[in-house]
Amino acid sequence: MHNVLRRDPADTTITVDGETLTHADLYERAAALADRLTGAGPVAVVAHPTLQTVVAIVAGLHAGVPVVPVPPDSGPTELRHILTDSRATVLLDGGSSTDLPVPSAPATAGETALILYTSGTTGPPKGAELSAAAIAADLDALAEAWQWTPDDTLAHGLPLYHVHGLVLGVLGALRTGCRLVHTGRPVPARYAAAGATLYFGVPTVWSRVAADPACARALRPARLLVSGSAALPGPVFAALHALTGHRPVERYGMTETLITVSARADGPRRPGAVGTALPGVETRVAPEPGQAVGELQVRGRTLFNGYAHRADATRNAYTADGWFRTGDAATIDANGVHRILGRMKGDLIKSGGFRIGAGEVEDALLTHPAVREVAVLGRPDDDLGEEIIAFVVADPVTADALITHVATTLSKHKRPRKVVFLDALPRNHMGKIQKHRLL
Ligand code: ATP
Ligand code: MG
Repeated sequence: MHNVLRRDPADTTITVDGETLTHADLYERAAALADRLTGAGPVAVVAHPTLQTVVAIVAGLHAGVPVVPVPPDSGPTELRHILTDSRATVLLDGGSSTDLPVPSAPATAGETALILYTSGTTGPPKGAELSAAAIAADLDALAEAWQWTPDDTLAHGLPLYHVHGLVLGVLGALRTGCRLVHTGRPVPARYAAAGATLYFGVPTVWSRVAADPACARALRPARLLVSGSAALPGPVFAALHALTGHRPVERYGMTETLITVSARADGPRRPGAVGTALPGVETRVAPEPGQAVGELQVRGRTLFNGYAHRADATRNAYTADGWFRTGDAATIDANGVHRILGRMKGDLIKSGGFRIGAGEVEDALLTHPAVREVAVLGRPDDDLGEEIIAFVVADPVTADALITHVATTLSKHKRPRKVVFLDALPRNHMGKIQKHRLL
């Protein structure tokens, strides 16, 4: 059995999209299904936001077989990629309770509990093998950081096939023994109706909550609002604080490393800062010559076993001295507080001898009243190395007005050279902006 979950308090409930079970009933149903999965190879679960999905995933953990959650909206090509890449032998559909598993291969050796696919923000999703030990260590570190207890009610509506919604948002509730209300979809009205103490969201969700003052105010009685999976824009942080009375807790992580850095429930929370390393995790920034910014590298007990069936990719993800290369640009201050500037490739713009974080320019643009959404990139330029280009979704406004706005908010060299107006930004299912599709 992959030992991630705790069995009491057994009468605590889990609700997914309106359907409720006690933890005890969930484990009973999962155990019945687990009997049929024992000995199977990786078990793929089509992760509809339903209780049946949770039952299937917990059954896989109970049976000690690797579970591969699959996005329910996968097209045939995406489905084939995940099923062949993970070498899944059984496919369960969390959309109904009538499908039967068809085990067809012997058990996979090793201790992998979950094969989770990355979000596919920078390329095709990669399967990360996560052990029960890494998951348990991460959840315990987060429980301590967020003072997360059985007295909490957690609410969120995030997908059940990524770290955020599944590992933190479901296994976290089961391990902590707290009540969970999964809202089916992450929409502000459902968050407002959940009456929870603890809320999880990605920045696009928090941005929608902040744009809906009545819903935001309904979160005032909560204890903690947590944001992660992408950078929370400064203006969204400020709006949430003003409306809910809470400064959101930001945390940082990856599918490959689980959550490694977080602000604390009893510590400072500042816009743009994702807090300090969690217990059991070490972090360092490998600076570029003469720069404070560099790649964030991590090691510790929350790290993955490797990419499924990709020994080369796994090896390449580590430095020669054994640190995992996150590919994200960061700084760590004297108090150990981390700031994530974005991806080394794409978000760290090298222009005219400066290193400019795209997020800073994005935040400046978002403070202009006409701007709704924004993505800033560096584009190769003979003169500057890279020039700053901004893609914006906005109410009627001129490019010049936006460029001037940035130049008066930040130093002049951070202003975009070019502004491109779009109807929408390309995003993946986690709401993350896929910048490589913009150039
Ligand atoms: P892929 O690896 O397939 O391109 P992905 O990197 O988006 O997709 P995930 O593992 O889901 O897949 O996301 C991890 C990434 O999300 C991090 O490397 C980082 O860039 C970003 N991220 C997560 N949390 C934060 C945060 N609090 N602030 C800024 N960025 C964050
Ligand atoms: Mg990644």
